[in-house]
Amino acid sequence: MTDRFTVRSPVTGAPVGEHPVHGPEDVRAAVGRARAAAHDWSACGWAGRRARLLAWKRSLARRMDELASLIRAETGKPRHDARAEVLLTLVHLDWAARNARRVLGRRRVPAGPLSVHQRALVGYRPLGVIGVIGPWNYPLYTPMGSIGYALAAGNAVVFKPSELTSGVGELLARSFADAVPDHPALLQTVTGHGPTGEALARSGVDKVAFTGSPGTARKVAAVCAERLTPMLAECGGKDAVLVDASADLDEAAEAIVWGALANAGQTCAGVERVYAVASVHAALCARIVHRVRALRPGPEPDSPYGPLILPTQLATVERHMKEALAAGAHAAYGGPASLRPPYVHPVVLVDVPEDSPAMREETFGPLVVVNAVADLDEAVARANAGAYALGAAVFTADRRRGLAVAERLASGAVSVNSVLGFAAVPSLPFGGSADSGHGRIHGAEGLRGFAAPHSLTVRRFRPPVDLTSFTAPRRRAERAVELGRRLHARW
Ligand code: NAD
Repeated sequence: MTDRFTVRSPVTGAPVGEHPVHGPEDVRAAVGRARAAAHDWSACGWAGRRARLLAWKRSLARRMDELASLIRAETGKPRHDARAEVLLTLVHLDWAARNARRVLGRRRVPAGPLSVHQRALVGYRPLGVIGVIGPWNYPLYTPMGSIGYALAAGNAVVFKPSELTSGVGELLARSFADAVPDHPALLQTVTGHGPTGEALARSGVDKVAFTGSPGTARKVAAVCAERLTPMLAECGGKDAVLVDASADLDEAAEAIVWGALANAGQTCAGVERVYAVASVHAALCARIVHRVRALRPGPEPDSPYGPLILPTQLATVERHMKEALAAGAHAAYGGPASLRPPYVHPVVLVDVPEDSPAMREETFGPLVVVNAVADLDEAVARANAGAYALGAAVFTADRRRGLAVAERLASGAVSVNSVLGFAAVPSLPFGGSADSGHGRIHGAEGLRGFAAPHSLTVRRFRPPVDLTSFTAPRRRAERAVELGRRLHARW
């Protein structure tokens, strides 16, 4: 008999749902069904896939409340946040469905002077079956950044959601089967803990799209290395906001508070560090503290934010706060008494030494550090130091200066005068480097990441000089090579 596990509410501990623990055989069987489904999906063509994905999107939009209430039950997040998560998901699915043909469809490319006799074409073919392993913080939006784009690129998907949010994963697959009844095996969900994810990575899928912590990403990468299975890794962040002396401090404070506290700080590209130019540091801190004072996390549908979803995460937040305070930081707001499981009330720390865990490790809680810097150059250097490079933001009255600073930031995405501006723009690729992972979801790169380029040449006429023949006149070929050499020596 298959073992089962229970997903519990992080607020009350009450059971929300029970799910099977899928073992390697179950996972392999799902991948086998997906492979057959991928074949039919490919035969559907661009228009057929687009029509079915948009039908699924419309049905998800109609089922927004059902999805949002399950997201809320499994994560404890407020109703508005859960609904906004569904909306973001719809925006991306819509873009992927509508743009797949434009981005991936076969097109002509210049053949170049050496190959004027050739017609050159490039297209993208689906990889086959994609194994998606997801986290719990945005249980719909985050995995759909892979699932929606992988399906639009012509693949089938087997999805292993987090063990904390498996109900959302199951509902997603059910909703697909309801909306696309002729291809129900194209999106299947397998449930379980780490070993189920490992079984998926080992199952012979054609790519693994992993979202989670860098530690788990390393384990998944080691498994993928055994078969040379390609892997996309969307991992954590330690995002910095840079505040220039010219910035509108009210707007900056508003955005920082939301970016740091929304979803209880459990956002991979959430705001964890702020570097403000010294002349405005105190005024910015005052504005931030003024705003966080009004925010109380709780279980109500309209609370500003909910609990920490993973109970052990509280210990990380506590350690980061206590080590920073012990190293000489000051609490501008909150402190150890802010930890009231399962909630953490807002914490604002200032003057935190750069080598503290609160500056170097992902906190993933509603704690934000606001440090002073001499100028934006120092802010850039500090923002770029460290193991993560996911998102960042710059606040300044001078948008050109903001763009110039953004160019110097090493993260994968930067917002000028907002936070997380890039997350809701489906045409922008999203992802990071170093401990934040590699590869991109969203946008054209997000589609291409689930496809293999397929290059074609079609000979149009016999070339006057043929370099791919043993019988063509050798002297003519030698003259052509010499002519080419001379041209390249000058260009
Ligand atoms: P996690 O690494 O603990 O787990 C992620 C998934 O991996 C889960 O489904 C888990 O069951 C599975 N897993 C665990 N061990 C495994 C193994 N050995 N082999 C295969 N799969 C295994 O991460 P989490 O705690 O669920 O998520 C939080 C992390 O995700 C944070 O670091 C956050 O920053 C990151 N995140 C990143 C993004 C992004 O897009 N960059 C988005 C959301 C979350």
